[in-house]
Amino acid sequence: MRSDRLDRTDEVPATARGPVTPRPLVDCEAASRTFGTGTHAVVAVHSATCEVWQGDRMAVMGASGSGKSTLMHLLAGLDQPSSGTVSWPGLGVTADELGGSVAMVFQGASLMPPLTALENVAMPRLLAGVSDSQARVSAAAALDSLDIGALADRLPEELSGGQAQRVCVARAIAGGPRLILADEPTGQLDSVAANHVVDVLIHAADLIDAGLVVATHDPRVATRLMTRWSMRDGILTPQQTPARRPSGRSRP
Ligand code: ADP
Ligand code: MG
Repeated sequence: MRSDRLDRTDEVPATARGPVTPRPLVDCEAASRTFGTGTHAVVAVHSATCEVWQGDRMAVMGASGSGKSTLMHLLAGLDQPSSGTVSWPGLGVTADELGGSVAMVFQGASLMPPLTALENVAMPRLLAGVSDSQARVSAAAALDSLDIGALADRLPEELSGGQAQRVCVARAIAGGPRLILADEPTGQLDSVAANHVVDVLIHAADLIDAGLVVATHDPRVATRLMTRWSMRDGILTPQQTPARRPSGRSRP
């Protein structure tokens, strides 16, 4: 399958795009997110600092309630930090302009039941103003690229949990995002299906040369990813020795 049929704005295959952009896709600087006030305040994310670069394959591992989803929402621009900053220098846009540059994959069934797999994958493209025929072409390309083209005409109720989640990954990449954020994408799957979904996520990110962040409570999922961070009581900590990036800033 050709990844250049996906709705990538630059329309250039990943291998021909040249060196990695010298700016992180997302830059999180001492970002905190507090819910509630006074004695009811919950610091879900406490002064998180991290960068995600094109080509990164990053796990954020932590128990339920540790702040993973809150962090993912900050990285996606779906929520704003109470203090600190989140910016997208490598994408060259503000939170309001992120549009199709960042795609999220959520836990569990998030497909629309009356629509086929292909229609589900096409829907965000239609909502983005792409023509019906172009949305269908890019949806079919995304399904094919993940070897699930045969599922195109199935309804969500006719898919296994793992198949449905792979369709969600196809939906995430159909618009050619630069950053894929997956929040507990394997949370409701058995270990075989979970492994397969992680394969597909990594393959999808490779295909479109995107950055990938996977939030998970499952160490088996986390170990599949190159870079690992842990989240505990809202505190984000790198699990590996920092390496240097072109910006000169340290990262795990
Ligand atoms: P995780 O994804 O690791 O399970 P969350 O980010 O969902 O963790 O939650 C972290 C903490 O923030 C939890 O204590 C949770 O109850 C709290 N929290 C998350 N979202 C909200 C919200 N909208 N309002 C109040 N508290 C919240
Ligand atoms: Mg969560």
